[in-house]
Formats: sequence, C-alpha cells, structure tokens
Amino acid sequence: MNRVEKATECPKCGSNELGKGMHSGYASMAPAERFGLGSKIIYIICTHCGFIVEGYVEQPKRFKKR
Ligand SMILES: [Zn+2]
Repeated sequence: MNRVEKATECPKCGSNELGKGMHSGYASMAPAERFGLGSKIIYIICTHCGFIVEGYVEQPKRFKKR
C-alpha cells in the first residue's frame, strides 16, 4: 500500500480549511473479532463542505490480531 500524505485539503471541494473532530462519549470503535477495549475515532473534516477527509482510530494496536 502506498503511503498516504497527510491530508491538507479537501478532495471534494478543494478547501484547505480542515478541522478535527472525534466521536464523543462512548461511541468508540471496538475490535470486531474479539472483545476488548476500543479506541476513539478521530476525523479530519472539511469545515467548508463537511466531507470527512480522514478517519482513524487513536490506538490502532488494539485492533491487531493475536
Ligand atoms: Zn470540502
């Protein structure tokens, strides 16, 4: 897989005004294959059109297969 450059602009509308958001409260991502602690999801959002440019979990190691 190619390394993706850090998002700096919205691929949809071209705006470079990106904001950061996350699910609040208990809406975290949990591992699908086993029970365990989940992780917060962080989103990079275009503040112009609302497009979600990136979404990722804060602690990806929790999703590793054992
Ligand atoms: Zn946009």
